[in-house]
Amino acid sequence: MTVTRESLRQELNDLQARMKRFEEFKSHQYSTNICAPGKHEFTLLQAEEMEHEAGWVLSKRCINCGIVVIDRCPLADETIIDNWAEFREGDEEE
Ligand SMILES: [Zn+2]
Repeated sequence: MTVTRESLRQELNDLQARMKRFEEFKSHQYSTNICAPGKHEFTLLQAEEMEHEAGWVLSKRCINCGIVVIDRCPLADETIIDNWAEFREGDEEE
């Protein structure tokens, strides 16, 4: 492949993008090794409800190594707690 001004510019852009990602990696102080299984310390990034209220899709990132894990959590055993029942209309208790 012939080297052209355009191909060199592309290489430079790619390198700058890699450098930017490297600086981002360093700024988070992520470890260079992925944590051992069960040793991650996750923080929740996003909780998105599945269609038809079938459950939740949770995105979480490990604060130590930076990997992102996406869990699909179907509803299995739902408990509804209403701490405000006494203030609702139709509440006959007194
Ligand atoms: Zn981790």
